[in-house]
Amino acid sequence: MARPLLGCIADDFTGATDLANNLVRAGMRTVQTIGVPDGVLDAQADAVVVALKSRTIPAADAVAQSLAALRWLQAQGVEQVYFKYCSTFDSTPQGNIGPVTDALLDALHGAGQGFTIACPAFPENKRTVFNGHLFVGEVPLNESGMQNHPLTPMTDANLQRVMQAQTRRKVGRVGFETVARGAGAIRARFDALRAEGVGVAIVDAIGDADLMQIGAALAGMPLVTAGSGIAIGLPQNWQATGRLDKAQVADALPAVGGAGAVVSGSCSTATNGQVREFIASGRPARAVDPLDIAAGHDVAGDVLRWAEPLLGDGAHAPVLVYATAEPQAVKAIQAKLGVAEAGEMVERTLAAIARGLVERGVRRLVVAGGETSGAVVQALGVRQMQIGPQIDPGVPWTCAATDGGAHIHLALKSGNFGTPDFFLKTFGARA
Ligand code: ADP
Repeated sequence: MARPLLGCIADDFTGATDLANNLVRAGMRTVQTIGVPDGVLDAQADAVVVALKSRTIPAADAVAQSLAALRWLQAQGVEQVYFKYCSTFDSTPQGNIGPVTDALLDALHGAGQGFTIACPAFPENKRTVFNGHLFVGEVPLNESGMQNHPLTPMTDANLQRVMQAQTRRKVGRVGFETVARGAGAIRARFDALRAEGVGVAIVDAIGDADLMQIGAALAGMPLVTAGSGIAIGLPQNWQATGRLDKAQVADALPAVGGAGAVVSGSCSTATNGQVREFIASGRPARAVDPLDIAAGHDVAGDVLRWAEPLLGDGAHAPVLVYATAEPQAVKAIQAKLGVAEAGEMVERTLAAIARGLVERGVRRLVVAGGETSGAVVQALGVRQMQIGPQIDPGVPWTCAATDGGAHIHLALKSGNFGTPDFFLKTFGARA
């Protein structure tokens, strides 16, 4: 089996999917793993993304997990390593972006050695870096709402300062005027910074053309650290040398037969709208009431008995099972059951329903909700996902094997993603 060219370490699950989605769109066949796999990669892929949950854990744990991911990626023979963090640079002075970057550079180059970039820009999602400052839309990071984030409040948009507080290496900058002059100028600036003893360079980028020039300048750099945007500029380097087939279809998934279903545990505004549209279409939908679960009813069993006869008639009539509710209803449930208890109870029940649906022949499954997706993936025993075509920005179809031996198409939609007709169009989309 050919070895993957690019190995990525993502600090959270949906961020990993976002990166994988960008790599596929730029022409690399990509597999996302859930945590560091035990064995070898059992898929044909040009890029592999190891999804960790290391964004807000203690820095020492994030370092240990990232190094374990690095060792596994090196064992797969990757040529370049990509450390992926959020496009809002979510971190604190304790980490984890700085300490993980230091540890990866130390491992790849020797203690205190090496050079990399840091660039969270993702212009398509309105994240730009200008004069070293990160903007979200038209406002600096510290006015974007991120200053109030409960775990990683971002109170400074100056990335050089933010990064310098968390890394042992000297932080420098590549400005937009250099980036605008193209890959050669960027590479020359890298060399100059290296000569000054800089270990990490914040790089300006305000549009996709910048990402392509920066990407070209990153050819052969052992470690890249970035949001998911920089990824679009990397495949060209392997395409230029013939290592990556420019004409290949990177998002093809093996066909699966079987019924479709949506399991929704997100209570976001977007998901509420998507559930409403699905119900209005007249397709079969069934609500899950957290109070029934709390009362000890066999809610999962009831739902599966309801769904079973609806699944028999083939792939084109998806059923919807949802706990999704409007904010007031959610508040009332939380007041009765407790916030964490209600969430956990609903997640456990939806995960059991998803597993039961797959056991009953569902092979195309859409899950709405970040936490809900985590619970479902765990219940299905999914360890890796081949990334397929994008349904909506940030949400691709994927193909996964369950521990029960089924191959299914799986789409994991975090809360606010997707157009109002998402659940309907998803089953009409190519996958
Ligand atoms: P999102 O991506 O929109 O944040 P998540 O799945 O991450 O969605 O989080 C939604 C949380 O709300 C989950 O813990 C889920 O179990 C819980 N939940 C879903 N429906 C209800 C409900 N009707 N009442 C209370 N909690 C609910």
